[in-house]
Amino acid sequence: MPRIYDLHTHSTASDGTLTPPALVALAAARGVDVLALTDHDTLEGLASAQTAAGTAGLILVPGVEISVTWGGRTIHILGLGVDRRNRTLRDGLAEVSVHRRRRAEEIARRLAEAGITGALEGAQAFSNGRLIGRTHFARFLVQRGYAADEREVFKHYLVKGKPGYVVGNWATIETAVGWIRGAGGQAVIAHPGRYRFTRTKLLRLIGQFTELGGVGIEVVSGSHTRDECLLFARYAEETRLLASVGSDFHRPENPWTDLGGMAPLPGFCTPIWAEWEETGWPWTRF
Ligand code: AMP
Ligand code: MN
Ligand code: MN
Ligand code: MN
Repeated sequence: MPRIYDLHTHSTASDGTLTPPALVALAAARGVDVLALTDHDTLEGLASAQTAAGTAGLILVPGVEISVTWGGRTIHILGLGVDRRNRTLRDGLAEVSVHRRRRAEEIARRLAEAGITGALEGAQAFSNGRLIGRTHFARFLVQRGYAADEREVFKHYLVKGKPGYVVGNWATIETAVGWIRGAGGQAVIAHPGRYRFTRTKLLRLIGQFTELGGVGIEVVSGSHTRDECLLFARYAEETRLLASVGSDFHRPENPWTDLGGMAPLPGFCTPIWAEWEETGWPWTRF
């Protein structure tokens, strides 16, 4: 039986709703053999996830999803197999979390101008003192009845042109890929379908990314349609990137990001785990 991989998931260390051990337990129950925890801009969940993985009998790939500003836009770069003790990566992400904190204050200030008070405290109640992001604001706004669900809140309050939008000033792609490689990891372009780039722009991104030493692209993703999976599979083949698979799971209530339940990679792709399966699983040492 081929192994089941899910290489993109979130826990309460960023904007997921399950603790790292609960996420690992659910993944194991869903039949996942190899799970990457890839919280936004933090490594905090990895130690407890690793311990839980030992108990659950699955392989935990220590990961991270780094926010990057590229071409005036926010994109996400996954780091798979990073050493969570790496000093440069840790220090870099600590700086990002300072930026996140400042951005959160600014989001709250703008929401207050739009008549929505107490948003910083409200969002913090959801982030529980950990990394803060727009999802925590979304949950607060849903709780207050401003919209029916998180998607609606994003659409009306938290994206460009809306009252609570604050532009992110994230790491450069050079910096992010450098941190990942320096920590022994492999860099992967996350959910390319989400960016709505033209072919020219996506190829420019891939060109820069591979020149910096990036090696993979997410082909199968919870935010891709089946057609997009095929499209990005062809990009992967054409540009010789390794193909990755991830649900981008955040919480059990979202059926479209089904933990471990993603479609298989098209047969012509080279999966990012081809080499892992050949040379073994280094991550238990972390
Ligand atoms: P941040 O990194 O704080 O800007 O937040 C980005 C996160 O917000 C993403 O990882 C998603 O979890 C969530 N998100 C972004 N756009 C949407 C949307 N339209 N609907 C629901 N969640 C979204
Ligand atoms: Mn998220
Ligand atoms: Mn993402
Ligand atoms: Mn994600």
